Amino acid sequence: MKGRVIKSTGSWYIVKAGDELLKCRLRGKFKQDDLKLTNPIAVGDYVEIKKEADQPTWTIDEIHLRENYIIRKSTRKNHFSHIIASNIDQAFLMVTLNNPRTSLGFIDRFLVSTESFRIPATIVVNKTDLIHKEKDKEYLQDIREIYEPLGYPVLEISALNEGDLKEKFLSLLKGKTTLLSGHSGVGKSTLLNKLIPEAQQQTKEISKFSAKGVHTTTFAEMFALEGGGYLIDTPGIKEFGILDIDDNVLSHYFVEMRKYLGQCKYNDCRHLNEPGCVVLEKLEEGYIHPYRYDSYINILTEEDSHR
Ligand code: GDP
Ligand code: ZN
Repeated sequence: MKGRVIKSTGSWYIVKAGDELLKCRLRGKFKQDDLKLTNPIAVGDYVEIKKEADQPTWTIDEIHLRENYIIRKSTRKNHFSHIIASNIDQAFLMVTLNNPRTSLGFIDRFLVSTESFRIPATIVVNKTDLIHKEKDKEYLQDIREIYEPLGYPVLEISALNEGDLKEKFLSLLKGKTTLLSGHSGVGKSTLLNKLIPEAQQQTKEISKFSAKGVHTTTFAEMFALEGGGYLIDTPGIKEFGILDIDDNVLSHYFVEMRKYLGQCKYNDCRHLNEPGCVVLEKLEEGYIHPYRYDSYINILTEEDSHR
């Protein structure tokens, strides 16, 4: 029977098959397959499951090929990666202008990750009911001016306003698997609970599955939407990894720089100060936003310092 993994508690997987949530184990053989991954099965995976004889539990026998996935480096084991979620149609980054203020640098890091995983991204500005100050309005304007021309939609909502959500938001999620991300405090749980009243119930039900006292690392959880589609919540995940992106490849994940791919004088141009750099030329001419270029430089030098 086919199902979709909606949560992993480490040793157990919760698979949604039809309307049912089933507790599943892995067949041992999976564990050896992907040596560099800490988790062979992730939220979002489509799997084939089978009932265990004389047991209330099921086993995962097969995993369907993943269309895409996002991973991050495991903090515990070096050189290992953790798949956060798979088969994602779009990623929504929820940001706020203050309390907390999401920085442009953070947005850009997020966009580099989604570009590298080839997942379309939307910026969702929440708590718009709190925008009164001039400097907040200016920041919102900046966000619009920087990201919309690059093809990233900027959506303004207030998660407290149910009508707002149902009208502006829900239709964008229909039939799709959407990853929801953002700093803690931006309003992700508020949104989730408004859109999916059963979300808390699901979380409670699933926590019954996992043994008491056992430490469970829960990286992501997927919730079915009423009109079809899924929302993936990623609590506790501040950032996705910008994984092993070579210096001279980083600019491929800045859409406005990617345009000039191969046009610089040097093939391995890092667009820092090299002669004949087309990116620097375009920056000078105003075709590349200086904030975005700053983010590029920051990521480039940060990644360097990790080596
Ligand atoms: P999360 O950490 O991203 O899950 O954020 P929460 O959903 O817990 O929200 C953090 C705080 O912001 C809570 O006190 C919410 O009530 C509040 N909040 C969420 N959305 C809005 C909004 O649109 N407007 C206002 N004024 N407050 C909001
Ligand atoms: Zn260059």
